[in-house]
Formats: sequence, C-alpha cells, structure tokens
Amino acid sequence: MFKKILIANRGEIACRVAATARRMAIRTVAVYSDADAHANHVRACDESVHLGGSAPKDSYLRWEKILEAAKATGAEAVHPGYGFLSENEEFAQACADAGLVFIGPPPSAIKAMGLKAESKQLMEKAGVPLVPGYHGHDQNPQLLQREADRIGYPVLIKASAGGGGKGMRAVDKAEDFAAALASCQREAINSFGDDAVLIEKYVQRPRHIEIQVFGDTHGNYVYLFERDCSVQRRHQKVLEEAPAPGMTEAMRKQMGEAAVAAARAVNYVGAGTVEFIVEQRETRAAPGRLKQASAPSGGSEDTSVPSVGADSVEMNFFFMEMNTRLQVEHPVTEAITGQDLVEWQLRVASGETLPAKQAELQIHGHAIEARICAENPDNNFLPATGTLRVYRKPQATAFQRSRVRIDDGVREGGEISPFYDSMIAKLIVHGSTRAEALARLDAALAQVQIVGVSTNVQFLRGILATESFSKANLDTALIERERAVLFDREPLGLPLAAAAAITRTLITEWPAKMPDPFARRDGWRSLGEYRRHFDFEFRGAEQTALLTYKRDGGLWLEAGGAEGPLVIGQFPSGEFEVEFAGTRQTLDVHVDGATAHVFASKGATKITAIDRLAHAGDTHAEGGRLTAPMPGKVVSFAVKAGDKVSRGQPLAVMEAMKMEHTIAAPADGTVDELMFAPGEQVAEGEELLRMSAAAA
Ligand code: ADP
Ligand code: MG
Repeated sequence: MFKKILIANRGEIACRVAATARRMAIRTVAVYSDADAHANHVRACDESVHLGGSAPKDSYLRWEKILEAAKATGAEAVHPGYGFLSENEEFAQACADAGLVFIGPPPSAIKAMGLKAESKQLMEKAGVPLVPGYHGHDQNPQLLQREADRIGYPVLIKASAGGGGKGMRAVDKAEDFAAALASCQREAINSFGDDAVLIEKYVQRPRHIEIQVFGDTHGNYVYLFERDCSVQRRHQKVLEEAPAPGMTEAMRKQMGEAAVAAARAVNYVGAGTVEFIVEQRETRAAPGRLKQASAPSGGSEDTSVPSVGADSVEMNFFFMEMNTRLQVEHPVTEAITGQDLVEWQLRVASGETLPAKQAELQIHGHAIEARICAENPDNNFLPATGTLRVYRKPQATAFQRSRVRIDDGVREGGEISPFYDSMIAKLIVHGSTRAEALARLDAALAQVQIVGVSTNVQFLRGILATESFSKANLDTALIERERAVLFDREPLGLPLAAAAAITRTLITEWPAKMPDPFARRDGWRSLGEYRRHFDFEFRGAEQTALLTYKRDGGLWLEAGGAEGPLVIGQFPSGEFEVEFAGTRQTLDVHVDGATAHVFASKGATKITAIDRLAHAGDTHAEGGRLTAPMPGKVVSFAVKAGDKVSRGQPLAVMEAMKMEHTIAAPADGTVDELMFAPGEQVAEGEELLRMSAAAA
C-alpha cells in the first residue's frame, strides 16, 4: 500500500479521500489555490502545497505544478477526485510518465469513454444497449437533419465532448432542428472546444439509473449495484438514491452485467460509473405477469398514482455514458453495501485484487443523498456566493450516528466563492426502508441552518414532500411536474415569522437571562398597556405587526391576519420557544443585519425589519443599469445598441459556476450600450449593458 498520496482536488471530495487515507495510515498531501489557503481540505491533509491563483486554470488544472508537488513531497500516487483533472487522459499519462500512480483508470480507458459518440460506437460492439440514434463522424447538417427525421421526434442533440449537463438541446419537431443544432454547436465549441454532436431519441418519462462498477489490474470486475439519479434540475443531479425503487433482481443483474461488459470493453481499472437512461412504458397489467420488487413507497398500499415497480410499468435501459472516476453520489452505494469505495480505489491502484467478489456483495436497506447547493431555486437556480455566517449541521445523536452522514469541505465563516462549483455539502442518510430513509433525510435537512448564502435546503425538503417523490414516481421531469408545489414555497408563514423576529428583538432588549420557557408571565412591563409597531419586509411585500404589552405582563400580537397571545421563552441552548397563532414552536433565529433567519422544524424563512427612519430619503439610483448578478463570463448578447426590448425579454447570457444564466429586461425600453464583448469576464455588480426604460 502507498505511504503517501497527493489529492489533486479540493472541497468535500478532497476531505473525503483524506479521511479514508488517514484511516488506512496513508499520509496525504493537499494542493490549494489562493482562495482555498485556509480551506478544510488543506487542514484535512498532513501537508499542503500552494498551486497558484483562484481560478481553476491557475491552480487545480495546472498539472505540471501538481506533478512537481507530488515529486517534492514524495507522494507515490495521485487521487484526482471528480471534476478538474479526473477525466483528463493526458494528466493520467503524465502521472505515469513521472513515475506516479494515477488513482483511476488507464489513460486509454478515459480516452475511449471521453467522447460520447465514440464510446457509443464501442458499446454497440460490446453488445451494450444504446438509445436509438446517430453517433457518426459525418457532421454535415443536412445529414444530421435526415438522421433526426429518421429517429423520429422528439430528439436530443448532444455535444459529443459535453458533460455536466451542458451542450444538450431537445428538439420537438423537424422545423426546429436546424436552429437547435446551431445553438448546440455554438455552446459545444465554447465550452468543450469541439462542436461534434450526436443525436438520440429523446426518451419519454426517463429515469437516470447508473451502475457503480469496479475493476482491478488482474482482470476482475464487479458491480456495486445501482443508484437512481432521476431527480435533476438542468440535467444535473439533485437527489440520488440506492437501490432504485422498483428495480427487480432480474433487471439489476442485466444492468450490472451490461455495465461490467462496458468496463471490460475498455480494460477498465478502478471505480467507474456506467450511466443508463431507463425508459418507462405503461403497459396494461397482463394477467400472470410477475409482480415486481417491493412496494416502492416503503410499504404504503396506496395505488392511486402509477409508480415504478407496479405491474403496469415496463422499464428498458440504454447506455448513456461512462464516468471514469469516483462519482459525487458514491456515498449512497457505500451506505447500502457497507464498503468504502475510496479504500477500494486505493487498494486497486496499489495492485491488490478487488476487496470483494460479486457474490459477496449485498444490498442493505436504502440510502438517499441530497446535494445542498448555494443557489436560489426560485430564481432559476441561480448560483449564490457569500460567507457562511451560520452553518449548522444535523446532530449525530447516538441512535443516528451511523445513519446520517455529511460530506462537506466548508465550515462556518468560510466563503462560497464564484471560482468553484456551488455544492456546499452532501447529506446522506440510510434507513432500513425507503420510507425510513426519506423521513430521516427530511429530519436531517430540518436541522441544517445556513445563513449568508441562499441554499436549496427548503427546496430539497419540498421535493421530499411531493407525491411523486414520496411514492417513488420518478423520472427526470419530476421537478417540472411538481412545479406548483416546489417553487415560491413559504413553509412558515408571516404570523410565525413575525412572531419569531419580534421574539428575538424582545429577548435582545432584555439581556437578563430568561428563566424557563413560559415562566415569564409577569414583570415584563409595569407601565400599563402599550403598543408597538414592527414593520417588516416579507416575501417581497411590506407588512406591519402590532404588539401590545398587556397590563398583566402578557403580550398580544397581531400579525399576518392572525392575533392572539404571544408567549415566549429561551432555552439555555439559545433556541426560542414561541407560542402564537395556535402553534408552539421551538425556533432558532439568526440575525444578519436587519434580516432574521428563522429555522423551525417544519421549515425556514427570513423576514427583514424595516427601519422607517433609516429609509427616509433613500434613493434607488439603479436607473437603466443592468449589472452582473455574480462574477462570471459573458457568453452572448441577444440584443444590440438601439434595440427596443420588452420587459422579460432575454438580453444577455452569462456563465458562472458551471451554469448559464439569462439576464432579462426589467422593463420595456431601449438598449443604449453593451459594456462588454462576449467572452469577457465580469465582476459581480459590474454593468453589463445600459438601457433606457420606455416612458410610461
Ligand atoms: P452529461 O455528460 O452532461 O452528464 P448525459 O449524457 O449523462 O450528459 O445526460 C445528462 C442527463 O440528460 C441525463 O441524466 C438525463 O436526465 C438526460 N438525458 C440524456 N440523454 C437523454 C435522452 N436520450 N432522452 C432523455 N433524456 C436524456
Ligand atoms: Mg452524465
């Protein structure tokens, strides 16, 4: 086994690899950028080497620097994590040339799987089922159009070199094909430097089910079962679970063997994931058909929603691509198999045989992972940046200890910078059934408190509560389908939010220790009845709450259409107890400027105090300036100077944190000037273009 390895990555995955290395008594070397000088992954390792500037191209992608660091520190092997250099065959080769072990597959396997079109041709030969489509070299647009017509609409155009959900266009009808092709090629050349595309049938009600495979240098292969990653936004994974609801033993075996065949076809070594797209077709329940695996909703007898695994759904799987690295969602596989996949990677890379044979691997219970990201789901998932002013994680109580896992690479006070991806943490839970895992995940998410950066935590809880997710009625359109209940949710409501903010104010005004909750019935005020106005901004609207200090010392609150006694207290732990409008809640309130962030078991919200005096005379001189909501790159402008535009019309496209964002016109008007050229970098708050609003 290695004595020392270098981890060529950052964030949670670098911490994750370091944890296993430490357990195996392997020393670790971290590498870091300027932005990460004090990051957790640096602390998690025994030594560290500075690479350069914050942008990945100046640090985590500088492979000569990384190789030098390995040499200088005496590391014998390099773990690339995911992203960055993990799927770069030249880097894998350079490691070998420098006498270092690359903890991953051979360069030839990375290359073979690197291009979607080429890998599909290989898989076809290996007998792995493919989505009907065109994966040829000839890229003549007329030919591509004919192929699309032949395949039949809807089709999906994919950049062959694409990844991370980018470079894909769905086309519904022949007339739209040419325009979609051009736009896909444009994105492909910009993002991947290669405009080759392939065309596939757009699978209906698809599920994303992937198989974890492993190979060693002695020609052994196993599969560690499947993960269902159907819950996606922008073709990126949001929730992942294992096993896949409704999976039958027969189908699991078929998919597992197909994945092993795929790995074998490229002489794969180490951890890899074969992604399949699974078509679901409703069929009439045929008499005598075998009942499929256990009820997907964890024992519920409700059959009102057709769910996968019921008699009436047939599943067909097709190869999509192979990711030649450890996957973000590998912990769900670890949870159900009890194996440490990083340990497996290290053993295989050092020449050992696979730690287990196929027959020794088993599935125990059910695991779900939620990706907690810095983003705003209600604003088209716009990534967010900022300081983690508050970052509280679920408590690992004794009975939960092995059942709730958090993989992260940040800590309270740390920054979510625009340089890297927006994932803050992964929360992984395990339960004996899917229903139990789901309940545990919801309870764990309820304990996550983040202030300073917008996150998708409430959104994730919303997904768990949907009918589709709870009944395992999964497909990649789940979020779209449940749109009505997922977006612009308000889990707490104004009365409770106002009560919480007011409680926090009152308790701060009485710094003396509060005794037991609810004991404070007298002595509040001896001056007789007295009323006080609180003005708030809540969900974009101004609101007023009226608090009355009663003669008997009690409090009476009118807020958000509710009125009644307000009874408050504070626990020694700092949490508030608030009783108002018929509910009694234990709350955490964190104040950031004028905004109170309220966390309760049923959800979290924020409410901002308006100080009338401070705002008098305030001017919002934003006028016709349109600024970048975050640092990034200008991809394109949809307009030019002089164009008349109407409110909501797309003006420009920006790319930041691996996603594209459309900047829309805030009002009707005329574009005066574009301040940047496509391809240029912009800082947050920089003016992108200038427009004049039309006279009303
Ligand atoms: P990437 O390299 O960006 O991960 P993939 O080829 O793995 O690209 O596709 C990403 C996602 O796009 C899949 O998980 C699935 O949701 C969707 N998708 C891909 N191919 C198809 C298809 N043929 N039909 C329908 N949806 C698809
Ligand atoms: Mg993929």
